[in-house]
Amino acid sequence: MVGQFIKVKCSKCNNEQNIFNKASTVIKCVVCNEILAEPTGGKIKLKADIISNL
Ligand SMILES: [Zn+2]
Repeated sequence: MVGQFIKVKCSKCNNEQNIFNKASTVIKCVVCNEILAEPTGGKIKLKADIISNL
């Protein structure tokens, strides 16, 4: 199984950030520290809006 990068937009500060859709740790916005996604044991659960699949 191969994950992929997706581009998301922070709902708080509108920062756009590329994240991996599989992660074992919480992914936070690099600008404001808002949580963008949480791990669920496989795919991440997104808290931010997806802009595009890369
Ligand atoms: Zn942010």
